[in-house]
Amino acid sequence: MKNLFLIFTIIIGFNAVIASDDWSYWGEHGPAHWPGLCIPGKKQSPINIVTEDSVKTDLGALKFIRYDSTFYGNITNNGHSVQIQLYGAPISLQGANLPSTYNLEQIHFHWLAEHMVDGSRDALELHFVHYNNEYGNITAAMQRENGIAVVGILFKLHEKDNIELAPILEATELISNEVGKSTELTRAKIIPYHFLPKDRSKYYHYEGSLTTPGCQESVMWFILAEKLSVSIKQLNIFKTVKTSNGTLSFNYRPTQPLGERKVYRHLDGYSSATTRRSNLLLIFVCFSFLLSKSLYTINN
Ligand SMILES: [Zn+2]
Repeated sequence: MKNLFLIFTIIIGFNAVIASDDWSYWGEHGPAHWPGLCIPGKKQSPINIVTEDSVKTDLGALKFIRYDSTFYGNITNNGHSVQIQLYGAPISLQGANLPSTYNLEQIHFHWLAEHMVDGSRDALELHFVHYNNEYGNITAAMQRENGIAVVGILFKLHEKDNIELAPILEATELISNEVGKSTELTRAKIIPYHFLPKDRSKYYHYEGSLTTPGCQESVMWFILAEKLSVSIKQLNIFKTVKTSNGTLSFNYRPTQPLGERKVYRHLDGYSSATTRRSNLLLIFVCFSFLLSKSLYTINN
């Protein structure tokens, strides 16, 4: 009886492993068939950011804590991307409108980019995935509203290689041929700051979801406005990563409807009160001009 129970448990467990990974970016398990909230959700990601429609506001600066330290880590081909995990003291995110401290869990890439800006798609997008400290771990946090904070960095195509990506791409070549393969990032330590643009003061923010099944709607998104660069040669290395149903030539989810949501555009020191004051000033100037013109007409 005990053995029967054990076999039963193993079968259930095995099915759970298969089921949780039974999705892909195309074909019969593609995005139109993803489980969880992916189809019925109302706050899904990624989105197309329409800059003109974004609401300008000062949300406060994002604070990148220990992003400037150096870390050892490993990189894994998880069949959907290459994912980096760093060792050592927590790296975290604070500031903006974050209600707590968010610890960095992992870093991964999407080729091409998932978020579009004004209808155009960049070559690559990096996601720094953080979870709310108060929930203890990422699995618990992804079930909670505002449990996850992801910083997205867009990479535009450039003729020159991005040298910061070189150690990651070297390691990617070692793990690209097999799903589940992992290697240590020993050749060069990782400094997370090197994967952030110089200007971190401008970003877009909205509330959305994970971009992979089950698409939980627990993510505070921060897409930095300044972009980094990647060469075609470098992008092609990502495109050689093997997945369970062929080569992962792309791993971006199509953009989702914005619906009732707003996209905020953070600008340091911006206040709508300043705008109101300057609008009033403009009206006053126009009025004075018209008044003086009509007085001039009357006098002549
Ligand atoms: Zn991602």
